[in-house]
Amino acid sequence: MNSDLDQSYDAVVIGAGVAGIYQIKRLTDLGWNAVVLESGADLGGTWFWNRYPGARFDSESYTYGYSWATEVLESWHWREHFSGQPENLRYLQTVVDTYDLRRHMRFDSRVEALSWDEVNLAWTITLADGSTTKSRFVITGVGLLSTPTLPAIEGLDSFAGQAFHTHHWPSEGLDLRDKRVAVIGTGATGIQVIGEIQDKVGQLTVFQRRPNWVAPLNNAEISAAEMSEIRQSYDDIFATCRSTPGAFIHQPDRRGFWTVTPQERLELWDRLYDERGFGIWLQNFVEIFIDEDANREFSAYMAQRMRERVDNPELAEKLIPTDHGFGYQRVPLETNYLEAYNRPNVALVDVADTPIKEITTSGIRTTESQFEVDVIVFATGFDAITGAFDKININGSGGLSLGEKWRHDPSTFVGVLSHGFPNFLMIAGPQSGNASTNFPRGIETGVDWITNLLVHMSDAGHARVEASLEGELEWVTHIKQMYEIMLLRKSKGWFTGYNSNVEGHGEGTMRHVVYNGGAPKYQKRLDEIAAGGYNELSFR
Ligand code: NAP
Repeated sequence: MNSDLDQSYDAVVIGAGVAGIYQIKRLTDLGWNAVVLESGADLGGTWFWNRYPGARFDSESYTYGYSWATEVLESWHWREHFSGQPENLRYLQTVVDTYDLRRHMRFDSRVEALSWDEVNLAWTITLADGSTTKSRFVITGVGLLSTPTLPAIEGLDSFAGQAFHTHHWPSEGLDLRDKRVAVIGTGATGIQVIGEIQDKVGQLTVFQRRPNWVAPLNNAEISAAEMSEIRQSYDDIFATCRSTPGAFIHQPDRRGFWTVTPQERLELWDRLYDERGFGIWLQNFVEIFIDEDANREFSAYMAQRMRERVDNPELAEKLIPTDHGFGYQRVPLETNYLEAYNRPNVALVDVADTPIKEITTSGIRTTESQFEVDVIVFATGFDAITGAFDKININGSGGLSLGEKWRHDPSTFVGVLSHGFPNFLMIAGPQSGNASTNFPRGIETGVDWITNLLVHMSDAGHARVEASLEGELEWVTHIKQMYEIMLLRKSKGWFTGYNSNVEGHGEGTMRHVVYNGGAPKYQKRLDEIAAGGYNELSFR
């Protein structure tokens, strides 16, 4: 039993990741009695769990740190432009220790149920060990990609070697030398793992169902001189992030795809391909996100760049997507991923052609062959965005279940509140702008807005807040309209709520899980709501 909990709190924050850390800072600065409940054994969220080889930022490191943690900004030296998991976790631990936040966190404390008490205007929170506490507010920082999913393959438990999801890569590390390793899945995670381990294992067999567009990360170390310059520029860096749709440092090219010549387009793409990070995606013409012809031309360019890096032309074609265009969805950034397939110890199995039939005690059997392996790595993704909410039994007004309400599609007001769930606030909930952008930048937007709302309520003497049904319907309609504009709607990935391993999230489903209008428009909408006195919310 978690005997360390108070009987009641002003606010309970769920999750000690990037979101929960900032939220508890703001709450305790206000003098609120608040606690963070975290299922893991320590803080860090994504960066606590994902310890697989190659795990690193796809945001430039210096755009990822908290803008408010100035003491740390002044001293922290990011070692690489795209920093790896160990350093990222150390950064979060340093922030928490610098601001003495650990004392407000309870680890190994999985929240299992939340139940709204309309009489006392409080949530009852039940933990997995049976402990309970009460809180006036519940604020979630549960992560977008924190609920790993395994495929439903026969014999999953019968494998005699080591098998695990990337999210659960052994924290003590794993010696893969001379091992025969299978990686199932070629999303951003699988692509990072493959790039990193290809030359460190005996044999690597990649089981790919659908190929993914990829682009080079172009990572590099940051020298002391560069870091000192970065430290002087933080205000500008964060201001730039606030002004771009993705909240990254990459500004889109607004010249107009069709107003420049094909030669000018080529010059831009050749330059961006060699630049760092998401430039090739986000410094591109905005038309590639909305205009199929523009996207087709750019995808043909990217396909050619991919082909050039793979020696075997037949294999190269297998690695190039044909079912969606480049950048419809978030692009996996890679280091040596395509070159891995030029190595004699790396093989690709196309499970679209030869599906996996079974996991056996000694390996993986497809419709065509048996592959004997020592280790199976499931890079098979997550029950994204709503998965972490579904794991908690959440009952709002009149016992309404959030899982039921969101069964077919989530429904929220600006991604922060959901009608029927008073005093329940989501930092990066479904349909928020924070879920689709450079995550920490969006987190700060979410935490600041929630905190200002709480201050407004305290000042006005309100004890209960709920999204109005009309406000919520309007937001959901807007979300759906944005999906209609974006080519994203034609892709099957976590931005459209697709996951073949989660019931109801597979083929033919379309879930409206993120806001696609970009960070500045989202911020503007949030600011308007606050400036208007939160008219779309009902208070008591
Ligand atoms: P993902 O993009 O959902 O990829 C899952 C992969 O597993 C897909 O290739 C999928 O194939 C495959 N798969 C699933 N079930 C399968 C089955 N039954 N048989 C064969 N293959 C199966 O998940 P992810 O790679 O973990 O990435 C998720 C998101 O995390 C990314 O989009 C990114 O936003 C984030 N991420 C970020 C970073 C970073 O650089 N900071 C790193 C990793 C991840 P299908 O495509 O056919 O479904």
